[in-house]
Amino acid sequence: MKAAIKSGMEKFEIREFPAPEINDDECLVRVKYCAICVWCYNEWLRDGTDDIYGPGLTGHEVSGIIEKAGPKVKGWKAGDEVLVYDALHCGVCPECASGRETYCRDVRSLHKGYAQYLAAPAANLFAVPEGIKLAPASLITDMVGTSMHAIRRAFSVDLGRDTVTVWGLGPVGLFVVQGLRTFKGVKKIIGLDPVESRRKLALELGADEVVDTIGEGVEERLLSENGGAGVNYAFNCVTAPKAIETAYKSLRLNGYLMNITGSIKTADMMEKRVDGSWYFFKKEYEENVRLVLEGKIRLDPVISHIYPLSGINDAMEMRSKHPDKSLKVLIDCT
Ligand SMILES: [Zn+2]
Ligand SMILES: [Zn+2]
Repeated sequence: MKAAIKSGMEKFEIREFPAPEINDDECLVRVKYCAICVWCYNEWLRDGTDDIYGPGLTGHEVSGIIEKAGPKVKGWKAGDEVLVYDALHCGVCPECASGRETYCRDVRSLHKGYAQYLAAPAANLFAVPEGIKLAPASLITDMVGTSMHAIRRAFSVDLGRDTVTVWGLGPVGLFVVQGLRTFKGVKKIIGLDPVESRRKLALELGADEVVDTIGEGVEERLLSENGGAGVNYAFNCVTAPKAIETAYKSLRLNGYLMNITGSIKTADMMEKRVDGSWYFFKKEYEENVRLVLEGKIRLDPVISHIYPLSGINDAMEMRSKHPDKSLKVLIDCT
């Protein structure tokens, strides 16, 4: 099979490898699409050839078709269209047993998506919902899953939802905007991004207002919410320290900052909640699919490009260096 391997700074190379062997409880998946995530292009941007993942690299937003099911696999057969849940988990520890796979004591990432085939445990497969094509479907796991999990986690604490900010209107931010729209009590969603085309799309996908983060007076503008108290919830989908700091400062007291990406270091921590979120629990998939099927979360507007596996370097460049032209970029691995 062909698979990408890191061969230098900003350089993946396509080489021939044997298709992976599968264990009895695994399926061999013929990868159709693998969408590029922040992790992936950060790996591409990085110097060095010490690829820690091996053939297939960091890719983890995979849709594909089962080529072969191991002898102990139940419920899956060759030809089934599937999505791959990237969090490998033991399935038996107390966390797994309670449906919180990402808290598993043995959790690891599969990360082998930029290849023609990958081996995945049957427990890590979801059926592609009927009526959804494999290209947009690749966004349902990480993009919709991560965004919805972060919102559910943040809203499990009820601090009022009158004004919610979303920092960064790239793919994750755009799914957070759409996801927020599905929750009761959210009165105003303010999206923030320096790129005009992304702000425009956020308005189409459910933001009530957008703000250019390059402009002056952003913090003052946000602090005017709630009669001058500030913002209730901020969802951070960027890594720029200045933006994260402003997201925090513009919260009202007892407000909540959910960091989906990035981390916060500020000297004047006040009585506000700072939290993080990673990926999602398998039990959330069904509800996420329902929102997609009902058209409440739209996948297609967030896809900007599809490149063949042989064009993976161009794809990484487009995704990482041209935020004004690109959103979600997919690799067609066939
Ligand atoms: Zn991802
Ligand atoms: Zn476990």
